Amino acid sequence: MLKGKNAVITGSTSGIGLGIARALAREGVNVMLNGLGDPGETERTRASLEKEFKVDVRYDGGDLSQAEACVALIHKAEEAFGSVDILVNNVGIQHVVPTQDFPPAKWDAILAINLSSYFHTIRTALPGMQTRGWGRIVNTASVHGLVASIDKAAYVAAKHGVVGLTKVVALENAEANITCNAICPGWVDTPLVQAQIQTRAAKFGGDIEAGKRDLLGEKQPSKRFATPEDIGAMALYFCSEAAHNVTGVALPIDGGWTAQ
Ligand code: NAD
Repeated sequence: MLKGKNAVITGSTSGIGLGIARALAREGVNVMLNGLGDPGETERTRASLEKEFKVDVRYDGGDLSQAEACVALIHKAEEAFGSVDILVNNVGIQHVVPTQDFPPAKWDAILAINLSSYFHTIRTALPGMQTRGWGRIVNTASVHGLVASIDKAAYVAAKHGVVGLTKVVALENAEANITCNAICPGWVDTPLVQAQIQTRAAKFGGDIEAGKRDLLGEKQPSKRFATPEDIGAMALYFCSEAAHNVTGVALPIDGGWTAQ
């Protein structure tokens, strides 16, 4: 049903974003990848997606802490594909330290990347979606868009902001056949959480598996990580016709974390 649609997925060179890119490409969606990282590795990822799923896969290396880069990313995709029908805002970084010690520059970076970039891509992509009368916007928020944890002031503030932005965009475009929803993962084993796993592992003499068990045991009742594939499947549902009337929701995929 999505074959021939065109998507931009921010922060999609690894982890959850790549999982979402694979899920959409499998359905015949052309994909504009974005992210930082090793150029050779990124090109291998791009080419392998294109080969495996026979869709047009492009890459943009814009640093989305900059508003102009967010705008340029959408314009580049519109020029390459002719439209941006699906926008997945997924880029994110983390920093874990008590609020009184939180470096202001880190606060600014997290707010810019994890929240403001979502605003800039959305405001740039919306007019085209409105003209065509179809659009799907999916924002990767987090359980931290719904509840808090210690030592994550900027991340929790940004993710709560993403949930709020999601609701406003959903309401403003409810009649226009443009949906806007947020995915709220608990723990997913990606590069973003490696530092937190290492910190836990240190308590167990560097035992990584023990560190993972400790991390999961504290908040995620299933005691299982969600996978990028799981998140990809949820994003695909939000993009489907079956979800045309699902908008403005913040849907946890968290093994029961927020049910407690
Ligand atoms: P990840 O580190 O694997 O992915 C982050 C992506 O963002 C990468 O492609 C990276 O290159 C890119 N990126 C980082 N800074 C950038 C910048 N300035 N400009 C452009 N690209 C940049 O981590 P992930 O876990 O897959 O995170 C993806 C999203 O999922 C984030 O928004 C994160 O907050 C959210 N999330 C993750 C978890 C988890 O447990 N891993 C849980 C809830 C929510």
